[in-house]
Amino acid sequence: MPDMCLALQVTSPRKFEIIEIPVPEPAADEVLIEIHACATCTNWEIQTWRGTDIFDRPGHPIYPQNPGSPGHEAAGIVTAVGADVTGLAVGDKVAILGSMRGPENDAHAQYVTRPEDQIAKLRPDTDLLRAAPLEMGLCAVRSVELEPDLPGMTVGVVGLGPAGILHLQVTRALGAARVIGVDPLPARREAAAPFADLVVDSADAQSLLEEGADVVFECSGHPSGMGFGLGWTRTVLREFAVPSGPVQWAKWEWMRGVAIVPYHWRGDNPANCLRKAAKLFEAGQIDTSPLISEVLPYSRYDEGLELLASQQALKIVYQGWA
Ligand SMILES: [Zn+2]
Repeated sequence: MPDMCLALQVTSPRKFEIIEIPVPEPAADEVLIEIHACATCTNWEIQTWRGTDIFDRPGHPIYPQNPGSPGHEAAGIVTAVGADVTGLAVGDKVAILGSMRGPENDAHAQYVTRPEDQIAKLRPDTDLLRAAPLEMGLCAVRSVELEPDLPGMTVGVVGLGPAGILHLQVTRALGAARVIGVDPLPARREAAAPFADLVVDSADAQSLLEEGADVVFECSGHPSGMGFGLGWTRTVLREFAVPSGPVQWAKWEWMRGVAIVPYHWRGDNPANCLRKAAKLFEAGQIDTSPLISEVLPYSRYDEGLELLASQQALKIVYQGWA
């Protein structure tokens, strides 16, 4: 095992360095993972790159960012195990979620440690590149599970970026009868089409309002998308995306009894949801390949971020350092 390894560090808005950090030591209940690939968490990552905070928290983001931050959608191979680890062995392929412990480095790095119970073990034949975005699969599973009456429903999904495409797949996998996606961008509708019964251009979506959906998952964060979703749903607008501005909850929606319910951190614990997402992935019910627009080495981190910010890519997966 080397003493030192490489990590990405965002040093200030739109600036990054590749630095050397000590290879982290796994605690007794942890494993050391050699990261094979790490995907962008698109909105979070764009905002950190621009110097804005996804939740508008005062004093954030903090620069320099922690080594490896904000990478948290990653897959790799176990290379060492702590003394108390029983369920994982050196050589196992795994997907991880964001660090719940801190302040250790995050996953835009060659190595990270994670507690054994915060990991999904993957099959030996798993393509780790495609497994990297499973952390977002966990968020979609958690979001969809919050809808108690899903089986048999007609589901609407607003916004067909990575989150929207995963919501189409997961609502279908968990029993929705019909899933319909809406987005203004042709490339996104094309990427989403295999996973929906119908995809519709936002400009042509008025007829959907008459038809209605039993529940709508809002994955764009745009006030216009939220407004549309409120008119479309018959019950609840499940706001998965972090809103990018205020939304109008009009008298008419109040009259119809329609509610907005944000995702937040309710529901089953993240590690369980990661393992559920991994099961769906291994069963072919989650396909992450349409989310991966580019695979780039970390030396081109800035290029990937500019592609995301200009909506020319859904996710970048980073792999390699040269
Ligand atoms: Zn994420």
